[in-house]
Amino acid sequence: MKITVASGKGGTGKTTVATNLALALADDHPVQFLDCDVEEPNAHIFLKPQIGQRKSVEKLLPKVDEHLCTRCGNCAEACEFNAIAVIGKKVLVYNDLCHGCGLCKLVCPVGAISEIPHELGVIESGTARGFPFSHGLLNIGEAMATPLIHELKAGIDPEALIILDAPPGTGCPTIAAIQGADLALLVTEPTPFGLHDLRAAVGVARSLGVPIGVIINRDGIGDDRVERYCEEEGIPIVLKIPFDREIAQFYSRGVSLVDVLPEWRERFISLYGMLTAGLVSDIPGERRAQNAPLQEGGGK
Ligand code: SF4
Ligand code: SF4
Repeated sequence: MKITVASGKGGTGKTTVATNLALALADDHPVQFLDCDVEEPNAHIFLKPQIGQRKSVEKLLPKVDEHLCTRCGNCAEACEFNAIAVIGKKVLVYNDLCHGCGLCKLVCPVGAISEIPHELGVIESGTARGFPFSHGLLNIGEAMATPLIHELKAGIDPEALIILDAPPGTGCPTIAAIQGADLALLVTEPTPFGLHDLRAAVGVARSLGVPIGVIINRDGIGDDRVERYCEEEGIPIVLKIPFDREIAQFYSRGVSLVDVLPEWRERFISLYGMLTAGLVSDIPGERRAQNAPLQEGGGK
């Protein structure tokens, strides 16, 4: 089973949920944790992994031989991303826009384009509290996060219970993290901003056909609009984490709730029981039968 913990915006407590869920379940389940928030990974602060492997993730950038190039413009015409342009006697490559697809090289009639590897970031892997842990680290200044997320997901153990901490937002990196999951746990706050971002996150998960459960963090700080929205949409609220000074203090010190407040270990274990019992919504507007278990590999 693959569970992606996501949110429409940063700072909602997504990593708190993902890490505590992993820690609570790891004693009885073969957990594997992937921190896909490659621009700002912070699950390691709570899980404190021993990193044993480091792997570079690269894309191939086109390099034009100006002596061979005839300035025919085929490459610029073919590129869907406007990442290569013929300007006067020069062919310019815009590294940030280039997806490294190699099409320009294929269409060049004179073989003027070669490819050079360019590092986007690294994947670090190791063990955290006895279970496999990996996170991606996007290099500073790089705009393309999804290749790192795809690389992280390429390391998924099909036998494991996968917990992915998604990047915040609803852009391509978040989509890459949710795609193929059996369940998206969407973490939000009971505020108008929380509701706005939750709506967007629900739209993404539903467009990918991934069942949804909502977790309200800092419950008590706002109003009931998130709850009313979930009710109207038939989306179950599977957990509420209260707005609590003690919880906030533990978080700020990098301490996991399940390590210091045993009742939270039980709550996260119960949450998983609820999820596997099928108490989550299906794709748009439909709900799974209360006792129907989630199908293995569903939502792909
Ligand atoms: S590799 Fe692909 S994305 Fe990059 S410039 Fe060539 S055609 Fe465009
Ligand atoms: S397709 Fe090749 S020859 Fe034509 S402009 Fe691009 S690099 Fe130059």
